[in-house]
Amino acid sequence: MTSATPLPLYAIGLGSNRRHARFGDPRQVLLAALDALESDDIEPVDVSPIIASEPIGPSRRRYANAVALVASPLTPPEMLARLQAVEAEFGRRIGQRWGARTLDLDILLWSGGAWSDAELTIPHAELAGRAFVLGPLRAIAPDWRHPLSARTIRQLAARLIRPKPVDRNAEAH
Ligand code: ATP
Ligand code: MG
Ligand code: MG
Repeated sequence: MTSATPLPLYAIGLGSNRRHARFGDPRQVLLAALDALESDDIEPVDVSPIIASEPIGPSRRRYANAVALVASPLTPPEMLARLQAVEAEFGRRIGQRWGARTLDLDILLWSGGAWSDAELTIPHAELAGRAFVLGPLRAIAPDWRHPLSARTIRQLAARLIRPKPVDRNAEAH
């Protein structure tokens, strides 16, 4: 069958700040997670460099973070379920938000636009405020527009990284 309709694209954020007994350090965990994600209906399209970042919240460990673009016909709730199954495979314990965790997989963006229900918010609610997400995302999808703010990832990253102008009107010139 030939189809002109491209598959939906997802940007998936990957994070780890804990060794895995089999896979090794957080960086290796992310590489193994990328392998685990690939399946009949999740096709990797691109992966950012893996960066090291400072932890947020109570854990003092450093994170390894990356972003992957995947093409998939799955609906957003189906994709979330798949990501949670991979997290579980990697021994993620429930109820440890921001703690030490082997693997965190978040849906950052979806080419279908915005999604909001009790379990799932797309774009990811913290996307525009996190340099460790915007940096890797900019490396692979700089022109993707945040569907709610209409700014590109490049613009969002620049806003976050640049110091705020003293004269806010200066932004308009
Ligand atoms: P943060 O969301 O601030 O990055 P976290 O990733 O540590 O925190 P988790 O413990 O992984 O948080 O997930 C908490 C809940 O967030 C999940 O049970 C899921 O239902 C919900 N959630 C809402 N939006 C998303 C999304 N875009 N991607 C992944 N999970 C989401
Ligand atoms: Mg997260
Ligand atoms: Mg998460």
